[in-house]
Amino acid sequence: MPKAVSYFLINICIFSFSLFFTQTAHAGNFITASASLAKISAIRISSTNDKVRLVADANKEVDYESFGLSSPNRIVIDLKGAWLSPSVKKDFTVSNKNINHIRVAQFSPDTVRVVIDTSLKRDSYDVFSIPADSSNPYRVVMDFGKISNNGSSNVQPAPAPVVPATPDTPGSDIFTTPGIKGKKIAIDPGHGGNDSGAIGYNKSEEKDATLRIGMKLKKMLEDAGATVIMTRTTDTSVAAPTASDVEELQARCDIANKANADIFISIHNDSFTDTSTDGTSTYYYGGGSSYSKKLADCVREGIIASVHTPDRGTKTANFYVIKNTNMPAILAEVAFISNPAEQALLTSEDGTTKFATGIYNGINEFFAGNN
Ligand SMILES: [Zn+2]
Repeated sequence: MPKAVSYFLINICIFSFSLFFTQTAHAGNFITASASLAKISAIRISSTNDKVRLVADANKEVDYESFGLSSPNRIVIDLKGAWLSPSVKKDFTVSNKNINHIRVAQFSPDTVRVVIDTSLKRDSYDVFSIPADSSNPYRVVMDFGKISNNGSSNVQPAPAPVVPATPDTPGSDIFTTPGIKGKKIAIDPGHGGNDSGAIGYNKSEEKDATLRIGMKLKKMLEDAGATVIMTRTTDTSVAAPTASDVEELQARCDIANKANADIFISIHNDSFTDTSTDGTSTYYYGGGSSYSKKLADCVREGIIASVHTPDRGTKTANFYVIKNTNMPAILAEVAFISNPAEQALLTSEDGTTKFATGIYNGINEFFAGNN
């Protein structure tokens, strides 16, 4: 493509992008959105001659998207639903064979943009997220250059080798027989052991709510004739307590992958500083199984019908456990443990049964055979 043409196209892209946000603001959604934006509190960079790693610290999960632009060549990573703390350094010079300059800016009212001047192609960089734990915030990690070599980085944790998800094709055998009976279902109660997950209203811990819901769901699925594979059944980490965050998450993926599970459901609770924020959202990895979105929709609708939580939608994300499992996989943020009413549900016998029932009904709908 001639340079002039591509330059023109890029400008159109940027224009449409800003138009989109302008319309969002005019529609009155910006006020609501700004109340729930994630704060990017730090951008950390480490580099060797082969590899550059950027880590963005955020106070809650953010969605992100990466794409390349030309004239000059650069990679853009947009952190969506986020704002950049004024104290964050915004301009970096690095000494690396592929990258010299990195810029960070508030691109639109709810998007933080990272721009890397480089000619690296899509197979030479990787972007993934690591959930918050008791000692670290939620992080978006961006690796450039030699992405398979983890030994040279001094930013913890180093990523474990990534097992690419194998997208299946419509008509694959999980729907040969409709219904839950005979299916292999992996359930991942989020966090555990040293990692409490979010600390909610009344100091309740996410790891307890996810386990209670997961164990009730296990029983319901087994009663219906499914084989259930749990990543944990007690208050413990899945990998060794000394393992890095990524090793811990990979251990959860390994359990589901080795069991050759038909579907993978990771159960989590959302949390936010504004305690009025509430509702249910489900996430799937866009580059994985073609059935993940359907599973995410079914489970979200099942929970909302059972618990009557507000609907926050089905979203895509690169969360480690849904990206590195080989089957239709979702992560459900079933409710906000930071919200007093939802915390009461997440810590009660009746409430946790309702969440488990909702997820069960969603799985039942997914396997109902009307594909
Ligand atoms: Zn969680």
